[in-house]
Amino acid sequence: MKNYDTKQHSTQDWQGMDAAHNIHAFVDQKKLNAAGPRVMNRAKGLYVWDNDDRQYLDGMSGLWCTALGYGRHDLIDAATRQMEQLSYYNMFFHTTHPSVIELSELLFSLLPDRYSHVIYTNSGSESNEVLIRTARRYWQVVGKPQKRVMIGRWNGYHGSTLASTAMGGMKFMHEMGGMLPDIAHIDEPYWFAHGGNLTPEEFGLKCARQLEEKILELGSENVAGFIAEPFQGAGGMIFPPESYWPEIQRICRQYDVLLCADEVIGGFGRTGEWFAHQHFGFEPDTITIAKGLTSGYIPMGGLILSRRMAEALVEHGGVFAHGLTYAGHPVAAAVAIANIKALRDEKIVERVKNDTGPYLQRKLREVFGEHPMIGEIQGAGLVAALQFTADKATRKRFANEDEISWRCRSYGFEEGVIIRSTLGRMIMAPALVATHAELDELVEKTRRAVERTAQEYKIR
Ligand code: PMP
Repeated sequence: MKNYDTKQHSTQDWQGMDAAHNIHAFVDQKKLNAAGPRVMNRAKGLYVWDNDDRQYLDGMSGLWCTALGYGRHDLIDAATRQMEQLSYYNMFFHTTHPSVIELSELLFSLLPDRYSHVIYTNSGSESNEVLIRTARRYWQVVGKPQKRVMIGRWNGYHGSTLASTAMGGMKFMHEMGGMLPDIAHIDEPYWFAHGGNLTPEEFGLKCARQLEEKILELGSENVAGFIAEPFQGAGGMIFPPESYWPEIQRICRQYDVLLCADEVIGGFGRTGEWFAHQHFGFEPDTITIAKGLTSGYIPMGGLILSRRMAEALVEHGGVFAHGLTYAGHPVAAAVAIANIKALRDEKIVERVKNDTGPYLQRKLREVFGEHPMIGEIQGAGLVAALQFTADKATRKRFANEDEISWRCRSYGFEEGVIIRSTLGRMIMAPALVATHAELDELVEKTRRAVERTAQEYKIR
C-alpha cells in the first residue's frame, strides 16, 4: 500500500479547517465544532485509522456500504481502467456504453426473471425520489392516474432529499420543512417497544393490517405504493416479526398497491441473501439499491423494476421525462461490476449465510443473551442490534436511552470499535468479508463498551 503522509496537518488543524467550511450530516454543528470531529485518514480491510494513527475496527462498514472492506485493488483497478478508456458518458441523447450494459446484465443475473429493468442514480435518496415519479408514471400508463399516494412508515428512513425525507418517517426531519402532499405513514413493526402484551406474531399482523386500514382510509384508487425497508436500518435495525411481510404482501396484492422494498442497506448480501426481501420471503415490485452496489468506493444507486412495471412503461411509449447527468456513470458501473463479481466469485454472500453470519449471531447471543441491560438481540447475516432495557422482564426502556446508547458508542470508539447508536439500540453491520477473528474482536470490544455503559449507569 502506498504510504500516505498522515501528518500533513495536526488533527487540531484539520478540525479547525473543517469547522471553517464544512456542514456535517445529522449533527448540531455548533457542538461538533466545539468538540472537533474525528479525522479519519486511511483504511484497509475492516480497519480505519485516524489522523493520530489510532486504529478502529469498523463495525458499521462505513455507513452500511463497504461490503468488501477498504482498499480492494480489483475495485481500484476497475475504476482506473474505466477512467482511462471512457471517463464519462451519459445515457441521454440516444447513447449508452458497455460498462452500464455489462453491469445490468450482471445485476439481473442475480435476480429472478420477474425483474427486468433498472434506472440508475447516484444514491439511495435519489433512487427513492425516482421511485415516486416512476410509480406515479406507471399508474398513469396503465390508466389509473389518480393512484399517487405513497405510504411509508414512521421511523423509516429513505433518504435526505425532499421526497425521500417525506416518505421516510423521521418526524424531526419532516419538521424541518420535509413534508410533501400525497404521502402517508403507518407504524413501524417494533415489537420490543410497542408490542405490549401481544406476541411478536400477533403484533406483526396488527402492524401489517394498519396498511390495510390506511389504504381503505385513503381509498385504494388513490394509493400508488407502500415503501419500507425489509429490516429497518437507521430507525434502529428493527427486524419485523415473521408474520409481518407475508401479510403486507397480501394487502398490497389485494388492493393493487406497489410493494416497494428499500434495499439500500439490505441489498448485496447483508442478511446472507443477495437481497433482504429474499431473507424475509416476499416479492417486491421495486427494489431501491445503493451502498453495497459499489461497496461505497464510488457513489451509485438505482431503482430496479419488476418486468410487469417495466414492460408497461416501455410498451406504452411516450417520453419518460427524467434523467440524471451521472446516472449509469461508466466509472461507477465498472466499480459495481468488480464489486458484484467479487461478492459472487469469492462466495462472500454464501459465506455470510452459512458461516460468518450464523457465527456472529451465535456469539452475540452467547455474550449478551443473559446481560441484564440487553433486552433483545436481533439480526441475520452480518447485521445485528442490541436493545438496551431497564428491565428485561417488562421490556422497559430507559427514559434516557438516547444518551445511554450515545455513551456506549463513545466507549466503543475508546475501545477501538465503531458501532452505531440509535434510540436505545446499538447496531453493527461489519464488512461482509469479516473473518471469525475480526468478528470476535467486534463482539469483544462491543462487550467492553456495553460493560462500561452498564457500570456508568449502575446496571450489573
Ligand atoms: N434508504 C435507506 C434504507 C438508507 O439506509 C439510506 C441511507 N442510510 C438511504 C435510503 C439514503 O441513501 P443515500 O444516503 O445514499 O442517499
